[in-house]
Amino acid sequence: AKGMGRNNFQTYVAVPEESHQQRLALESKLRLAERNGELRAYYQPQVSSQTEDIIGMEALIRWEHPELGMISPGFFIPLAEDTGLIVSIGEWMLRTALADTKRWHDRFNLPLRISVNLSALQLKQPNLKDVVERAVRDTGLDAKHVELEVTESINVKGIPNLIETLQSLRDMGCSIAIDDFGTGQSSLDYIRRFPADRIKIDQVFVRNIGVDPDDEAIVRATINMSQQLNRGVIAEGVEYEEHLRFLRDHGCEELQGYLFCRPLPAASFENLLAEREKL
Ligand code: C2E
Ligand code: CA
Ligand code: CA
Ligand code: CA
Repeated sequence: AKGMGRNNFQTYVAVPEESHQQRLALESKLRLAERNGELRAYYQPQVSSQTEDIIGMEALIRWEHPELGMISPGFFIPLAEDTGLIVSIGEWMLRTALADTKRWHDRFNLPLRISVNLSALQLKQPNLKDVVERAVRDTGLDAKHVELEVTESINVKGIPNLIETLQSLRDMGCSIAIDDFGTGQSSLDYIRRFPADRIKIDQVFVRNIGVDPDDEAIVRATINMSQQLNRGVIAEGVEYEEHLRFLRDHGCEELQGYLFCRPLPAASFENLLAEREKL
């Protein structure tokens, strides 16, 4: 069924044990990365569990350093968060992802949803709503196609007015997804009040489908809870047919993972959409 570029493997450079010096050096390189055009937006499809049609895509950032090679976001995003660079990098990512999505809407006439990750520091910026509004206006993409992913592991109390901020983004037409669900500390009461449209089951649970009955129980319970609370639900890290079957059979609507496709550069993602259009 698949074949959406499963072999698009990506290797990252091994970043050496960091000394203070190396960290400073990397920080100054990161400062220039945006200006030098070294950042890339990659896209990973999110598919319907029923039809395997592409419903949308998550935008995932990559840093292609001319000498160091491809640097993993797992490595440089924390650095960008510590240094505050994530605010401008995040805005670049948002604008790039919305512009690419608008182009695909126009070319393929598909109502694709774009999911963009937001960091805690972005959520603390008083002008976040303006930034999103401007990106929507400048690209011409309808806000109803824009989803913002907020990880459950953020320190909620450290972000003043978080709920109001998220609600204002929803009022604009955007949707909100809780990323990495199940890995944070949220109480059920908090989840009930959290203005989220979708719950994203973390890959640590998905990975253990077929392996650990306790994790399977957590996955089932999360799907049921999402349905009961009228939220959408998506699973990430879907790698095997067994994961797909389990998730589909238990009512998880949407899936994302290497089984369907790795994150692709914009041009490859566009080719994928073009191929699918011919089917
Ligand atoms: P995340 O938001 O939880 O993104 C999902 C990660 O899982 C991505 O790693 C994706 O490539 C990977 N993945 C997708 N399918 C599979 C699968 O089937 N199996 C496995 N093992 N992994 C899969 P990636 O791209 O390396 O990103 C790592 C993290 O970096 C993201 O985790 C997110 O927290 C952060 N990140 C990436 N792009 C951005 C961005 O633009 N802004 C912010 N703030 N954070 C970002
Ligand atoms: Ca995410
Ligand atoms: Ca995630
Ligand atoms: Ca994660």
